[in-house]
Amino acid sequence: VHVGDRADGAGASATGAEAIRLLTGLVRNVADHPQPGIVFKDITPLLGHPDAYATAIAALAAPFQGRVDQVAAIEARGFILGAPVAYALGTGLVPMRKVGKLPAATASAPYALEYGEAVLEMHVDALRPEERVLVVDDVIATGGTARAAIRLVEGVGARVVGITALLEIAGLGGRAGLDGYDVRVVLPPTPD
Ligand code: AMP
Repeated sequence: VHVGDRADGAGASATGAEAIRLLTGLVRNVADHPQPGIVFKDITPLLGHPDAYATAIAALAAPFQGRVDQVAAIEARGFILGAPVAYALGTGLVPMRKVGKLPAATASAPYALEYGEAVLEMHVDALRPEERVLVVDDVIATGGTARAAIRLVEGVGARVVGITALLEIAGLGGRAGLDGYDVRVVLPPTPD
């Protein structure tokens, strides 16, 4: 589902195509950040544009209206998108944080980065069994972060209803590793 796609599945409107152009033009490619060879997708110009930010939040939320009990947002850029998505959907918000940040009892999910490993954590009492959860982040690259979030959600018996992001970096196999899940990306795939 792209921006402007109607909830009834009737397809993108003219407004939708304009919205895609607006949002796409506000994602800045920063070469060699945070290290040589990486093209960093910088969403801060989009966040700073009132219409674009509101449009992005609406597009992330729309497919999941009425279908979700909790939004699981991934630190840090996932918080910036996930919190307003939770507000738009009328759900709670569950922070998925980097290691050592959450104060109470946590579950941990280690995952691979391009170089090395990271750990995502969630409070063990953040979700009840059978709660319907939407995972939100800004970018899906290899999908490793999203898979760690799924393990945390499912590890306490809750259900992943969907995974949503603004952008996906095609060719890194992120989708393949999320097979069987409802993955929704707002903007068209970029090659790098
Ligand atoms: P991955 O686990 O490989 O899917 O990477 C996704 C996570 O890393 C997300 O939290 C993104 O914010 C971040 N990320 C990975 N690659 C990029 C990139 N090229 N530009 C911006 N963020 C990225």
